[in-house]
Amino acid sequence: MLIEIRYAGICHSDIHTVRSEWGPVAYPLTVGHEIVGRVAEVGPDVTRHAVGERVGVGCMVNSCRECEACRDGQEQYCTGGNTMTYAGVDRDGTVTQGGYSTHVVVDEDFVLRVPEAIPYEAAAPLLCAGITTYSPLRHWKAGPGSKVAVVGLGGLGHMAVKIAAALGAEVTVLSQTLNKKDDGLAFGAEHYYATGDKATFQALQNTFDLIINTVSAPIKMSSYLRLLRLDGVFVTVGAPPQPLEVPAFALINSRRSFAGSNIGGIAETQEMLDFCAERGIAPEVEVIGADAVNEAYERVLASDVRYRFVIDVDTLR
Ligand code: NAP
Ligand code: ZN
Ligand code: ZN
Repeated sequence: MLIEIRYAGICHSDIHTVRSEWGPVAYPLTVGHEIVGRVAEVGPDVTRHAVGERVGVGCMVNSCRECEACRDGQEQYCTGGNTMTYAGVDRDGTVTQGGYSTHVVVDEDFVLRVPEAIPYEAAAPLLCAGITTYSPLRHWKAGPGSKVAVVGLGGLGHMAVKIAAALGAEVTVLSQTLNKKDDGLAFGAEHYYATGDKATFQALQNTFDLIINTVSAPIKMSSYLRLLRLDGVFVTVGAPPQPLEVPAFALINSRRSFAGSNIGGIAETQEMLDFCAERGIAPEVEVIGADAVNEAYERVLASDVRYRFVIDVDTLR
């Protein structure tokens, strides 16, 4: 189906990609995998979506549909080869191009319904930042009685706080400074600590059931792992190009786990959108014109994003 794009979020993954930080990419490349718009045209076999419907596209536009992960609705872990929204190789051999664009053509099975209850410009970041934090929070059962820490209060981090709080967990933000404390508490966190202060790591030893790391750069793993209580899990969604070095004893003591998580499946993404609509959860966005993208990238890199830049795609028309 053909989608007329209205808003596209700026994810830190776009920056890693366009700067070839994760490896070589084929230029020219259009990035963007937080896409919302309206269905403009459908092909004869489309049954799930209709012209005019408000829809979204996230990080994936296809998958093999046959492997165990695909059959289980976890297309993000497809072993047969899934197709990422940009910089992926499509079934016809062309390189996929993302959402900083006026239109995109996507198979209907990888298109989400975006409830009208979610403000239009705020819906886009749910397609990556929303699902990437919702999925591990659900997988590791964040909820009443669990203590969850979120490391980094950027695009992903602020959604992790909002969603974990909505799920009923006791949420702590671990940010470099206390500059965004009022925001973090307003998003639903009960506690807020500066990781620039060594006393934080003393005070919080053996505290958390789950830590969601959203930092785009390497962090000192030994310090963070020691904040987990017995059987606690540290999940990284942050994807720095450099390794995260894990000392064995930080895991062995207290039987801790170190895990990663990749976006979410299509059905789970729909579940997340419906959850956010029902609970009144939406990203905090700063809408910009397409000519301000370079400046926005610099502000993301400087941890000066409040809390997601979203491109008004009408400025491209
Ligand atoms: P972002 O908006 O830039 O947020 C990252 C936050 O990390 C910053 O706001 C900052 O928060 C903190 N931070 C940045 N540099 C740091 C440093 N050197 N040391 C300590 N803290 C630092 O980025 P994002 O869009 O949320 O993406 C975050 C990461 O997740 C990226 O690596 C991205 O590629 C990855 N990602 C992964 C998936 C997945 O499926 N696994 C999906 C999307 C994105 P404070 O100022 O609060 O400290
Ligand atoms: Zn992303
Ligand atoms: Zn598959």
